[in-house]
Amino acid sequence: MRSAQRFDGPSDLHLHSNHSDGTQPPSEVVRQAHAHGIRTLALTDHDRTTGWEEAGRAAAELGMTFLPGMELSAKHEWRSVHVLGYLFDPIDPALAAETDRIRGDRVGRAERIVRNIGRDYDLHWDDVLAQTTQDATVGRPHIADALIARGIVRDRAEAFDGILHPREGYYEPHYAPDPLTAVRLITRAGGVAIIAHPVTSGRDRMMPLAFIERLIAEGLGGFEIDHRENTEDGKRLLRSIAAKHDLIVTGSSDYHGAGKPNLPGENTTADDMVARIIDRATGTAPRYP
Ligand code: AMP
Ligand code: FE
Ligand code: FE
Ligand code: ZN
Repeated sequence: MRSAQRFDGPSDLHLHSNHSDGTQPPSEVVRQAHAHGIRTLALTDHDRTTGWEEAGRAAAELGMTFLPGMELSAKHEWRSVHVLGYLFDPIDPALAAETDRIRGDRVGRAERIVRNIGRDYDLHWDDVLAQTTQDATVGRPHIADALIARGIVRDRAEAFDGILHPREGYYEPHYAPDPLTAVRLITRAGGVAIIAHPVTSGRDRMMPLAFIERLIAEGLGGFEIDHRENTEDGKRLLRSIAAKHDLIVTGSSDYHGAGKPNLPGENTTADDMVARIIDRATGTAPRYP
């Protein structure tokens, strides 16, 4: 395959910067990936593409291949579903309108969560703004950072296990499209749609199989299987579905800087699968060194 000869592995296709809920600027994310041995990476900030340029420049300086990407927020019934998009056109009007809508609604939602928490704890919206870079996709991780700064919790994990967990009663949902819409938007923008961590345990556990088959019919490219939050049983099931439908399977770190224990390269994607993503996409070219 021609494209397969143009990039070097190991490849990590899921990392976040401070343009969403990672703690480092895109260039630092790229440097960290390089320091952990990664040679091809994708930046996949939630609902946002503004980190691409800086990440692409940093990757070029280090002789790495950069795949522009994004993790699009979606929702199936009560489940939060994340759809990774690779190499789509960032100015596709339908996709851009949807990410604007999601990010806009996330702000009001975060304010509502903070107001709920503020009834019981000394936490204010300004505390969250102090933890958020300009225009970043705002999420519970930034509220977690504000709780840490206030000395209410020790780290993001403690915040998510406690105050930010829906069972505690402070949680509010945000607008997100149906996964079918998410897959269609990414695909029509020339990108490749891959379901992120599809088989986690707990509240967001797997979508029904019949619904996954509908996503495949809609153009779904594949699944992120090697991810620390997928269950072992779930990985086996996904591998069999992927084999049956000849889908792409990936492995990634979901690095968030200091925001999560995940480290670049803790899971990687096989070269032939990276090549399939590159060969299938038409929206944006990879940035080769
Ligand atoms: P939100 O989209 O605002 O509901 O927040 C979800 C985000 O929080 C996800 O993108 C995760 O990266 C992050 N997250 C979820 N659980 C944890 C955790 N235990 N520790 C750190 N970050 C987390
Ligand atoms: Fe995140
Ligand atoms: Fe995710
Ligand atoms: Zn992620």
